[in-house]
Amino acid sequence: MSKRKLTKKELRESQVIDDKKFKRTLLIIFGLFFVLAIFYNIFIVFGHDTKYVYRKYALYGKEVPPELVCMDGDKLIFHKSIKLSYNGKNYFFCSQDCYDCFVNHFQKNAFIPDPFSGDTICKADALIGLKNRGEPEIVYFQNRKTFNQYYKSKNK
Ligand SMILES: [Zn+2]
Repeated sequence: MSKRKLTKKELRESQVIDDKKFKRTLLIIFGLFFVLAIFYNIFIVFGHDTKYVYRKYALYGKEVPPELVCMDGDKLIFHKSIKLSYNGKNYFFCSQDCYDCFVNHFQKNAFIPDPFSGDTICKADALIGLKNRGEPEIVYFQNRKTFNQYYKSKNK
């Protein structure tokens, strides 16, 4: 009699233990998912950031593709820019607002002196480079010659 009772009690106890184990496993799986989700978000956010920081260094002294800049703010931008034409030439912007601002003062915004030759050039025809290593500001060059001269003089 007593032996049978004990077995029942033992059975119940072992069920409680199993239940606890199951709950703990669930909690661990849940926790892992949670941690993974956080890491995934960090990667998405900072992965982009890292790319941007990397570009500010890696593109120094190289020709910067216009689809990575905003010609209104004259800066390397975070995402790809949009190409919009005005007077038959293509310009690149981070947003429609920048485009509107740019064309409102077109003469002032679209033309800029080459930092080396001093000749006025149109941004749409220019070669683009980073002004300083690690910074987003860009400069516009008349041609490959002034482009090379600029970086040569900077590296002295
Ligand atoms: Zn912009």
